[in-house]
Amino acid sequence: MNEEQRYRLRTPASARYFEEARRYLPGGDSRSTLFYPPYPAVLDRGEGCRVVDLDGNRLLDFTGNHSVLIHGYHEPAVLDSIRRQLEKGTCFPGPTEPQLRFARHLVERIASLERVRFTNSGTEAVMMALRGARMFTGRRMVAKLEGGYHGTSEEVMGTAHPDLVLLPADDAETAAGILERRAEEIAALLVEPVQGSAGMIPMDAGFLRAMREATRRLGIVLVFDEVVSLRVAYGGAEEHCGVPPDMTCLGKLIGGGLPLGAFGGREEIMALFDPSRGPPPVPHPGSYNANPVSLAAGLATLELLTRDTIAQLNRRGERLRAELKREFDEAGVPAAITGLGSLFGIHLTDGPVRTIRDAARGDEGLRHRIFLGLYNEGILLDPRGVGTLSTAIGEREIERFLEALRTVLSRLEEPAAV
Ligand code: PMP
Repeated sequence: MNEEQRYRLRTPASARYFEEARRYLPGGDSRSTLFYPPYPAVLDRGEGCRVVDLDGNRLLDFTGNHSVLIHGYHEPAVLDSIRRQLEKGTCFPGPTEPQLRFARHLVERIASLERVRFTNSGTEAVMMALRGARMFTGRRMVAKLEGGYHGTSEEVMGTAHPDLVLLPADDAETAAGILERRAEEIAALLVEPVQGSAGMIPMDAGFLRAMREATRRLGIVLVFDEVVSLRVAYGGAEEHCGVPPDMTCLGKLIGGGLPLGAFGGREEIMALFDPSRGPPPVPHPGSYNANPVSLAAGLATLELLTRDTIAQLNRRGERLRAELKREFDEAGVPAAITGLGSLFGIHLTDGPVRTIRDAARGDEGLRHRIFLGLYNEGILLDPRGVGTLSTAIGEREIERFLEALRTVLSRLEEPAAV
């Protein structure tokens, strides 16, 4: 039996769900990155570091909903905070107290952040930061690094758009040269300090310093998209690499499992959003902006994410990356393990992985077999081969992951189908 046959046997309820869901939703779902063949398992509930699918399979969750749930499911402090806010009300036609507490927390936590505003998603945070940068500079174009993912707004979603300039992510001289040649047109340089969607690839600190220097010199707004990377240090990746951006975008984990994004940065740029002195140069309306239930969940989440907690998560992440490498080496399967802190990526290629181009050399068919195999062994990863740790995952769960991987790698010898 191959891994797909095993998977089908374990997930008949998900198969039935998908058969019907395709009649109402294109592809049976609303989030493209979740699809994998033959059909994704439908998830029913979470318990600590585990999720349970429709067929009752219990899986150790090494995705944390793609880096959102840094404390796993059922963190009591987060649930209590949500409940308390639910009793008061879910949304209001006016500012609320959780907003002030959260804004204070973020400004005190992230060194470069002087003012902040809240959105419903990382996508919106990026959109608003770019609007701010454009108004601030009077320029139109946006530069981003190859492999960077910044949400679903059209101009930054792919690699080609009339307003987009693409820079290499591993060649500071070329990147700075492009910025220099087109400086008059470029409003912002958008950077993920750890490229999440590209496969958890940390950007080189020297490269980031060079981008800081070039953008400062050329009057380009440097925007760090820390939607994924915030977790690598208490004050985010900017603290880890010692490079302060002009603006920062946040999302995912800051909502504690509910929809929330934020953007902020230098006071003089953020002043463009201020409606208290007449119509703001950049309006930022939104019926659910700064939703108090999301803020309650998110603030409880961040308050639990102390320096000590992050240090422990990062130590476990380091250990996991080293052990993953050892397992692949011992099985004789070429693999590069990337990541930083509690983020990790598995690339089935024998070269080093420093860019999305390196990652693209990975064996996708093998990656998918391993992904399904791990599912069959009770381990949930992102189908793209990346994952994250949560504080709900302990040493035992890491052991279980490694055991499952050993089992799956030993089955690679089996014929593809029986
Ligand atoms: N930026 C980065 C770095 C992301 O990883 C994501 C989401 N994967 C986004 C922005 C968009 O966030 P959202 O999905 O909340 O719109």
